[in-house]
Amino acid sequence: MRENGQLLNYIGGTWKPSRASEFLNVRNPATGEAIVRVPLSPADEVDEAIQAAQAAFDGWRRTPPLQRVQYLFKLKTLLDTHLDEIARLTVEECGKTMDEARGELQRGIENVEVATGIPILMQGYNSEDIARGIDELMFRQPVGVVAAITPFNFPGMIPLWFLPYAIACGNCFVLKPSEKVPMTMSRVFDLIDQLGLPPGVVTLINGGKEVVDTLLDHPDVRAISFVGSSPVAKYVYSRSAANGKRVQCQGGAKNPVIVLPDADMEMATRIIADSSFGCAGQRCLATSVTITVGEAGRIFREQISEVASKRKVGYGLESDVEMGPVITAESKQRIESLIAKGVSEGAKVLVDGRNSSIPHYENGYFVRPTVLDEVNPRSDLAGTEIFGPVLSLMHVQTIDEAIEQVNATAFGNMACLFTSSGAAARKFRYEARAGNIGINIGVAAPMAFFPFSGWKGSFFGDMHAQGRDAIEFYTEKKVVVERWPKEWSRKF
Ligand code: NAD
Repeated sequence: MRENGQLLNYIGGTWKPSRASEFLNVRNPATGEAIVRVPLSPADEVDEAIQAAQAAFDGWRRTPPLQRVQYLFKLKTLLDTHLDEIARLTVEECGKTMDEARGELQRGIENVEVATGIPILMQGYNSEDIARGIDELMFRQPVGVVAAITPFNFPGMIPLWFLPYAIACGNCFVLKPSEKVPMTMSRVFDLIDQLGLPPGVVTLINGGKEVVDTLLDHPDVRAISFVGSSPVAKYVYSRSAANGKRVQCQGGAKNPVIVLPDADMEMATRIIADSSFGCAGQRCLATSVTITVGEAGRIFREQISEVASKRKVGYGLESDVEMGPVITAESKQRIESLIAKGVSEGAKVLVDGRNSSIPHYENGYFVRPTVLDEVNPRSDLAGTEIFGPVLSLMHVQTIDEAIEQVNATAFGNMACLFTSSGAAARKFRYEARAGNIGINIGVAAPMAFFPFSGWKGSFFGDMHAQGRDAIEFYTEKKVVVERWPKEWSRKF
């Protein structure tokens, strides 16, 4: 919801203009034009939102799970009905293609679907006669007010990794979306407003660091979910933990893919190109390094260069476009200077996407697909998340060397292998130190009923987003030990 060109906050079941003194322009990255202003909400407004959520908590946790999920069934229908309209907003603020934007919202909706299973998913368990006449039971109860802080690159999907599970489990949920892409969730909350949820069960508060810090420090916020870059993930993790909160933080990535000589090279090239250049390389599961083994190097180098240079780049609302711009002018500049750094460290440029100008969109933030060859695994570039359409190639002679390089990186979000050998696939699956593994897959994104499992510098916490981990994260386990002596029975 917007008023006078500025986005509103959704607090206590009502859309409210912010009392912010600072606003940012949300820009269309394909045109550079300002679309709307987003408030950087002040701390007292965040406090007001948390108080409204806290006030709603007792009534909401007492609402039976079967009734709570009825709102999610309605939400799914509304999201399905408005899918194209919401996807268009995502294209306008985030720079994706329409297919990419539709696809991400679809993945978000799948989380709504899975969370409708809460009546069974949040069941506890029990044992009769743990000692003579004594029983033990475990119940799951909601945690309280919980908050999520989300990044720019999936404005529709990532908030839905959290919201449906949080409220289905009986929590009250506060969302702080990325200030770069706040329009998608603003529209989704218009739909949420139609559900008739009790006021305060869900909250949308726009802003930046001040909102985040207030959520991390507020005594009534019991759990924090974060998705974004690793330095901020680590900061959010430490500060939340120091305040005694439950916390899960998903961070950045630098995803390697190995291509063995026995791989189907045509398939591998097509899939790796989609992984590296899809969403302009701004996916936390984008392939950013390809390690070829032996003879695979020569063929892959030629094929990927051809596919990269042919990719159609432009405004995502145009039908034949395969790749849009990156998110901001600063991002374009950062990506281009990282490419230059790679070259200064000895990489060879096979395809150069710098200084791109797209006809009719000269003010857009475009970087075309870029392929760098012979990147030194020990260079700064090899260890830095670029978050743009840049693929680095490295070449080794054995699968063991390739796996060693995969495991040497500081991140562990995803690692993939292309091969036709089951034994090689099993070895890789077993030895690779990353949380999401792909075998002949380029974007190993877990479905909503599996955890999104980053490792190492890509994740700080214990329980991941989605699936059973989400139920663990959003519930407290309460164990009850009961004795009812038979002498107390009345005679009936
Ligand atoms: P970001 O870290 O800049 O911002 C993420 C969120 O944190 C935003 O809501 C932002 O307002 C807030 N924030 C930023 N700086 C902050 C600070 N200093 N203090 C407190 N809050 C702050 O990330 P981004 O640029 O929006 O997103 C891209 C990053 O997210 C990439 O590193 C990408 O790999 C990562 N990502 C990871 C996953 C995953 O599942 N592991 C998924 C998507 C994106």
